[in-house]
Parts: sequence; C-alpha cells; structure tokens
Amino acid sequence: MTNQDTREIFLLKLGEVVLKGLNRRTFEDKLVGNVSRRLRRCGSFNVYLRQSTIYVEPRGEDCDMAEALTACCQVFGVVNVARAVPCEKDVDAIFETAAAYLKEEFAAARTFKVESKRADKLFYLNSIQISQAVGGLLGERFPNVAVDVHKPDLTVHVEIREKAAYVHAPAAPGAGGLPIGMGGTAVSLLSGGIDSPVSSWMMARRGVQLEMVHFVSPPYTSQQAQDKVLELARLLTVWCGRLTVHIVPFTKIQEEIRKHCPEEYFTLIMRRFMMRLSEKVARSVHAGALITGESLGQVASQTLPALGVTEDVTTLPVLRPLIGMDKVEIIRLSRFIGCYETSILPYEDCCTVFTPRHPSTRPNLEEVRAAEAALDIEGLMSEAMAGRERIRVKP
Ligand code: ATP
Ligand code: MG
Repeated sequence: MTNQDTREIFLLKLGEVVLKGLNRRTFEDKLVGNVSRRLRRCGSFNVYLRQSTIYVEPRGEDCDMAEALTACCQVFGVVNVARAVPCEKDVDAIFETAAAYLKEEFAAARTFKVESKRADKLFYLNSIQISQAVGGLLGERFPNVAVDVHKPDLTVHVEIREKAAYVHAPAAPGAGGLPIGMGGTAVSLLSGGIDSPVSSWMMARRGVQLEMVHFVSPPYTSQQAQDKVLELARLLTVWCGRLTVHIVPFTKIQEEIRKHCPEEYFTLIMRRFMMRLSEKVARSVHAGALITGESLGQVASQTLPALGVTEDVTTLPVLRPLIGMDKVEIIRLSRFIGCYETSILPYEDCCTVFTPRHPSTRPNLEEVRAAEAALDIEGLMSEAMAGRERIRVKP
C-alpha cells in the first residue's frame, strides 16, 4: 500500500448511533466532537459527517496517520475504520487508483472481489455494474488473482459519493459502543487491580463519562500504589479522553473500623464507607450511578449477600459490568485495553490492609448495621471528603 499517499483519508462507520432515531443528530455531533478532540495530538484534520460516515482528512503533510488510525479505532461509537483514497468518479480512474493503492494486497491475495456502493444515485452505473467493470480491469492487471465472490482473500470496496469516488483498504475494527457523553456521568471506583479498569472501560464504551474515585490509606498504602492507579487512569484516557481522579483519604476510617468493629465485618463495613463516599463524590459532580469491578463469587465481599450489604448504603444504581464474567475473560479484556501489565505490578491496596482472617461470606445486614453504629459515620465521612484531592489525567 502506498502509505505515503498524502491523499489517504479515513472513513469511520458508525454503529448503533445510526439507530437512535431523533437523538441521532446529537449522537453524531458528539461523535464528531470526540473524534476531533482525540485527533488533536496527531496533527491537523478535517473531521465531518456525510451520510452516516465520518470523514477524517489530513490537512497538511505533517499528520501522523498511523497514530491517527489507532486513535480513530479507540473512539467509542465507531464500528470500523477504513483507510481510503478519493479519486475521480470514473471507472478508469477508480481502477487505476485501486491497482496502485492496493498493489501489496493484490500481491498477497489469491482471490478477490469488488464490492461497490453508490450513494450518488446519479452516477451512470449501478453498483453491480461498477463492480463488474472495475473487477474486470483489475483481473486483467493482476492475472494471478482470481475472482471469488463468496470467500475472497481481498475485498476491494468502492464507494461513489457526492464529491468523489473512494477506494478502500481493508477496514480495521473500531471500539464499538456509544459515544462518550451520551450515557450520562458515573463515578467509577478505581483500585490498582485488574478488574476496575476493565469495568470502567466497559461502561465508558456504553457512552458513560467517567469520574474516578480512589481511596488511599497512607502509611499502609504507598505513594507508588497511588501512582500506579493514576497510571491506570492515564492508560484509560486513550479510550475515554481526559479524566479526573478523586483521591480520598481512607486511613482514619479503616483504623476506626479495626478498633471498634468485629473482625469478620471489617471488609464489608469498609466497602460500605467506600459506597457512601463515592455517592458523595457522585452528587458533587452530578453523576447518576456508581461503577465497581466486582464479579460474583470472586472474593468473600462479592457473594450475593455481601453485595446486598454493600449497596444497602446508597440509593444510586451500582453498575457491576463484570458481575457475570470469569477472570480469564476479564484478563483478556485488560490486555486488550492495555492496562494488564500495569495492573499486575505488586502494590498494596487499602482493601488488602487489615483483611480479616475469616471474612463473613453470608453476612446479616442487621448485624452489620449494628456493628457500624459504634462509629461516628458522618464525622468520618466529612473528614475524608475534606481531604479529597482532585487530579486531572490527560492522554
Ligand atoms: P480489583 O482487581 O479491581 O482490585 P478486586 O477483585 O481486588 O478488584 P476488591 O478489592 O474487593 O476486588 O474490590 C472490589 C471493587 O471495589 C474494585 O473492583 C473497585 O471497583 C473497588 N475498590 C477496591 N479498592 C478500591 C480503592 N482503593 N479505591 C477505589 N475503589 C476500590
Ligand atoms: Mg482490589
């Protein structure tokens, strides 16, 4: 492929966005905005929408097209990204363009077909005729590559649009999902583990704007542990755009729980505090839900009764996208997102300090509430919220 071809552009196909009826315009506008913003660090581009396709055209010579392609594939709401070159709306021009642009693909293929789309209904050939004409000429130019309309190695896509004809290279898969900002805002509880970056990513892919909360317990947890979480947030910005991480001090709460509550309920009471504080953060940023990386049965605090006890303290919906997933599936996603290598760095989390020897897996809600009554819940919460720090994380 002649990658140096400065005329190369990207065509982004939208997914579910196109099904959203009256909201469609809002979806499309959001997506165009999100794509433009994400491309800023790759150079100067024209980004616009025509007929449910987003066009990305480099404006100068100094655009990093490889970087831009990766960025486009990481914008939620885009199902696939095709590289394409425009040419004159004429069969010979389309043929010459395809032959030159896809020279390497033809060298590697044994079979091919041409698939055409005619958005410009005034064009003098219909889509079948275009495919036949261009396919015939390509077959003569590359005699070693046979036509196979059922399972070809290479499909040459031709589109006839208003301004020009386009010849596509094979499309790369996009991130899917919905544009960020369409799903409201939610607060995601981010630990340094494998799960919570994945749960955050999954909800962001459904269009949710994230606000991150991380609880720290110095001196039991270290600065490196906090930096690791900020690094995980930074890795997520590649998909989500810039993020705010709310760092909430948790030491005093944990010490008070240890001093005054039964050991078997340490973790659950701690998790109830996390929920309450996250809800406070959510109210302060107008978020409508909480997100956690909990997965059913993974640890004692993630049994059904334990989850019930945990969410008893909040009226916000608690979203747990990993609830029905196996660890191997979560790990696969974690690698795909790019967080895995950071997630497995061995630093302590506030959940791993003061862990009870025999945590309750079938807790009784009334008992937990009674155990907690020994604490000055409001006072501890106000103190923690007053010590909250906000850190902006950028790609
Ligand atoms: P992870 O692998 O994400 O650390 P986990 O399997 O270790 O999860 P827990 O430690 O019980 O499970 O935590 C369950 C969920 O609680 C996490 O996925 C995360 O959403 C939240 N959480 C745990 N620790 C913290 C923390 N220090 N700050 C913010 N949220 C946390
Ligand atoms: Mg954890």
